[in-house]
Amino acid sequence: MTQTENVPVTKETPFVPIEKIVSLAKRRGFVYPNSEIYGGVSGIYDFGPLGVELRNNIRRYWWWSMVQLNDNIVGIEGAIITHPRVWEASGHVENFVDRLVDCKNCKRRYRIDHLPEENLLQNKCPNCGGELMEPRKFNLMMETYIGVVEGERMKTYLRGEACQNIYLDYDNVLKSSRMQIPFGICQIGKAFRNEVTPGNFLFRQREFEQWDLQFFVHPSEMQKWFDYWKERRFEWYKGIITHKDRLRLRAHGPDELAHYAKQAFDIEYQSILGWQEWEGIHWRQDWDLSRHSQFSGQDLSYTDTVTKERFIPWIVETSGGVDRTFLNLLLDAYEEEPGEDGKEGRTVLHLNPMLAPVKVAVLPLQKNKEELVNTAKDIYNRLKRLMVAQYDDVANIGRRYRRQDEIGTPYCVTVDFDTLQDSTVTVRERDTMSQIRLPISELPAYLLERVTWH
Ligand code: ATP
Repeated sequence: MTQTENVPVTKETPFVPIEKIVSLAKRRGFVYPNSEIYGGVSGIYDFGPLGVELRNNIRRYWWWSMVQLNDNIVGIEGAIITHPRVWEASGHVENFVDRLVDCKNCKRRYRIDHLPEENLLQNKCPNCGGELMEPRKFNLMMETYIGVVEGERMKTYLRGEACQNIYLDYDNVLKSSRMQIPFGICQIGKAFRNEVTPGNFLFRQREFEQWDLQFFVHPSEMQKWFDYWKERRFEWYKGIITHKDRLRLRAHGPDELAHYAKQAFDIEYQSILGWQEWEGIHWRQDWDLSRHSQFSGQDLSYTDTVTKERFIPWIVETSGGVDRTFLNLLLDAYEEEPGEDGKEGRTVLHLNPMLAPVKVAVLPLQKNKEELVNTAKDIYNRLKRLMVAQYDDVANIGRRYRRQDEIGTPYCVTVDFDTLQDSTVTVRERDTMSQIRLPISELPAYLLERVTWH
């Protein structure tokens, strides 16, 4: 990616309160509470006109970097509903549980693994100091039923994690493509969890989207590929944020590791929520394919075409969240800049231009001058075929710039009286607010070079 270099590392900025992001997201059409007119559903959100653009850009950029650029990776899109045995094999039916405690006094509910250690030891509520009740277990899988006739209906689940489809389709991919180990399968898809403590806006939802890479290797090469993907994924996230110092890799302690895992790392982002997981890098060994072999009775081993060695491939998994990326990018990009010399300040989203929902806004200097409006509309109509563009002629030019800054539009093109004489326009850059003059004919190439990934 070449575009991040253009995004300045902003000065020491304080962490943004989540409420500011929630408010901007709703006001400007990024995210709405789901079923709001009925009082909403906790942990479920809808994405508005700008949100869907940002989300699509985030997804496409991941897909481009992971699938399109890597010759040894292919993509799939699996169904949300699978055979219920899948979730027995994966261990979700038995073990996908959260243990939680309620406070007897203030009735707050906590996941045990999220309680500060001293509260856990003293059995004390972090909020009011009240006594905590006995821990209870909750399964996070969302149940559903297939079939119409009562008694013949089959109970199954909305997938609790998207990656299971990759194990299910692994053999089909091998047989239908020319992939050979080492190779990877990627997928982006919805997952559903009956989270007991949904909250912090998009951070912990009940319906959310994950992106996964499952990379299949020979056991002797596991360490090499684990290290490789850990570094690649860390650099990927670093490339899309402004505050590079708010990203870290955290190694899991022995008590956090699955029994088959030699190591695991979380890529974490620091925000007002503290250091929190953004993506997990997991050493899954042969666990998933062995379990599905065992439960389905199908042989999922691989035969090396040269050595004829037969083995169950080991897996490096990188599993992150589209919604956490969405939220972290907004938290990372948001800044309230005070105005200088008594001038009005501005709220600006320093979103990476590649990911920004709107790439360019075209603004006639005045709306009551027909020639300005016609020229601006002509430019807008040409640009919108190439990138997401907006035309805006409402309010004075300063206010229109502010409106675009607030949604992260990297470039504004202003059509003024000089344009009518010499066919040039002003191009204003969001972060520096610097302006240059450019011939209209050069606009498409100038903008495309700065807002698309290559
Ligand atoms: P946590 O410990 O926060 O519950 P997890 O370890 O269960 O997360 P994974 O199952 O590894 O998470 O999921 C992979 C990624 O999916 C996470 O890194 C995160 O980005 C995203 N994710 C997981 N649960 C949620 C959720 N409830 N809402 C939004 N995103 C989520």
